[in-house]
Order: sequence, then structure tokens, then C-alpha cells
Amino acid sequence: MSITKAYAAYDAASPLRDFELERRAPGPHDVQIEILYCGVCHSDIHQVRNEWGGSIYPMVPGHEIVGRVTAVGAHVKKFKVGDLAGVGCLVDSCRECPKCREGLEQYCENGSVGTYNAYERDGKTVTYGGYSKQIVTTEDFVLKVSEKLDLKAVAPLLCAGVTTWSPLRHWKVGKGHKVGVLGLGGLGHMAVKFAASFGAEVTMLSHSPSKEADAKRLGAHRFALTSNPDILSQLTGYFDFIINTVSAPHDYGTYLNLLNTNGVMICVGAPPEPAQVAVFSLIMQRRSIAGSLIGGIPETQEMLDYCAEHDIVADVELIDIRDINNAYERMMRGDVKYRFVIDLATL
Ligand code: NAP
Ligand code: ZN
Repeated sequence: MSITKAYAAYDAASPLRDFELERRAPGPHDVQIEILYCGVCHSDIHQVRNEWGGSIYPMVPGHEIVGRVTAVGAHVKKFKVGDLAGVGCLVDSCRECPKCREGLEQYCENGSVGTYNAYERDGKTVTYGGYSKQIVTTEDFVLKVSEKLDLKAVAPLLCAGVTTWSPLRHWKVGKGHKVGVLGLGGLGHMAVKFAASFGAEVTMLSHSPSKEADAKRLGAHRFALTSNPDILSQLTGYFDFIINTVSAPHDYGTYLNLLNTNGVMICVGAPPEPAQVAVFSLIMQRRSIAGSLIGGIPETQEMLDYCAEHDIVADVELIDIRDINNAYERMMRGDVKYRFVIDLATL
């Protein structure tokens, strides 16, 4: 057992502040990692503020973790001390059910274990995330990280990256497809990079006019301002896929109408409020609305390897951990290009 410095939310309304937690001593299959960087996901805000319900306090958020291995258990095969390593949104699952066997641990039939705001499989040990100096995770849920990439910009790949990669791969999005990415934040900017890299024609659908130049730099072929009804009406029936990354309530119907026949809106953004959908916008063109949760461990590794090969990382702004509360406020205003990453040297 070791005491680890961290930052925690103590309830849904107060600013995050210092916290100390206990990490287990590495067991035979565990990897101990000194956390160097941790990305800040909008899911951290939803959970800190208990917007999805059921939050466990004190809560140490953070599921975009990269760092260096400082110790390994006797049976660990993939990692040695000094290696770079990553931990994403999951730290365990049953590993036996059909979903786990397929590498879809996020859909584990017996309940996967979130990196924070969750209970370990013993049902009582609370998990604590990456706003901390160190983490101990079973080898099967630790990812290999290339030395070739800018490490701080790799961190967001562990959630924003795989959450957009997974549905793009599942629906085999690529050449010949017209893809709309709704919302240019952490997830949105990775969706643009991946969809463009896979050869799709990408349109950024954003309510922030100031993001147009960035969207094109990130790989979007076109920018459409969603607050302008004339621009949207020109795109009626246009897209094969829309990746919806919006974190706040919005009118789904407006965007469903932009889908072509058989088009699919893939929802990854998770506003807590239920969506209202006029079924006629689905019926009339055999459109679908779908959802997708993060990604499994094998596809996360595949995504990280692809990024190393194709030189893809997130666009990040490095912050001191003492600025985390301000960073949350800035994210709520859409003022981040395009992911905050905490420098854990500041903790
Ligand atoms: P983010 O960086 O804050 O980006 C969200 C974007 O949504 C904003 O940049 C903005 O884009 C748009 N937006 C925000 N408020 C809006 C509003 N009122 N109306 C219209 N557009 C608005 O958030 P993120 O980290 O990318 O996360 C996005 C969502 O995905 C969150 O709900 C998060 O919990 C969820 N998430 C889901 C999964 C999953 O497994 N499915 C995984 C991670 C995160 P524009 O300025 O371009 O319009
Ligand atoms: Zn996340």
C-alpha cells in the first residue's frame, strides 16, 4: 500500500482540491505507473457534478492517463520498469463473458470497472483516477504507448481517441462516405482527425464560428455553422454518418434531417437529459440513431499503434493541477483547443 497525492471532488458543488489516497502494492499481475499526464474529459465534469447520478465522493477523476512504469508484478509480461504506459476508462472487467472474450470489455455482461467513480470487482473498493501521482492497474488493462509521440498529447487518445475511433471502425467509415462531426471539443477534434485519416469527406458542424479555421486545419473539408438555418438546410439529406459529440441538451431532429437514406447518427456525447426524437425524421429516410461507449482494450491498443504510425495526437493545452476548476469553467464555455491535459509534475 502506498499513499498517493491526488486532487478530488468532495461533493457535486465545491471546487476540486487536495486529497490523499491509498494505492495497493502491485500484485503479481499489476503494473504500477507514475502518472505524468492526464487529460480532462467532459465526462469528468458530468460525474464531478453528479449530472449522471450515483457519483461517489471523494472522487478523483481522470481516465486519460499516461506515465512511466515504476514497478511490475512477478507475472507481468508486457511491461518492464521504465516503459511508457497508458490507462484509459476501464481498469477491470469479468474477462469471461462473450463481450470480454470479443475484446469489448466496455460492454462486459458482469459490469466493467471504471477507472474512477466506480467499485472494483470486490464491490467495495472505490476506484480513483488520474488526477493523482500514481496508479496500480492489472496488466490486461494497461496500454502500450509509443516513445515516438508527444506524450502529453497522447493522453487524450485514451478516451477521446478511442471513443471516436471505435464507432468509426465499427461502421467501417472511410473513402466514399460523407461524415458530419457535431461539436468541436475533445471528442470532436479526434473524430475529425480519424475520419479524415480514414479517407472520408468530413464536415464540421459547430455552433462556434471562431472554430472554422481550426476545423479545417484538423482535417475537415468543410465547416457548417449550426446556428445558421440556411447553411443547415443546404445540407439536408447529405451525410452517411453524423458523429454527435455534443455534451449539452440540443435538438437531435435538426441533425437527423441532415442524414441521407440509411444514414446513421452515432451518439457519443452524453448529456444527461433524455433526447426527444420525432420518429418521422427516422422513418422517412430509413435513418438510424445509435450510441457507442468508449472502446475495448484491443481496439484501444490498435488505435494507439495507428496513431504512432500515422503521427496522430490530440491538440492540447497543458495545465497546472491547481487550475483544474478554472479549466472546467472554460470547457463549459467551449474555450479549449481542444483538450486540457494536467501536468502531474504540478501536484
Ligand atoms: P467538450 O470538449 O466540452 O466538447 C463538447 C462540444 O460540444 C463543445 O466543444 C461544443 O462544440 C459542443 N457544445 C457544447 N455545448 C453545446 C450546446 N449547448 N449546444 C451545442 N453544442 C454544444 O467535451 P468532450 O470531452 O468532447 O465530451 C463530449 C461529450 O461526450 C460529453 O457529454 C462526454 O461526457 C461524452 N463522452 C462520451 C463517451 C462515450 O463513451 N460515449 C466518452 C467520453 C466522453 P462547438 O463549439 O463546436 O459547437
Ligand atoms: Zn472521457
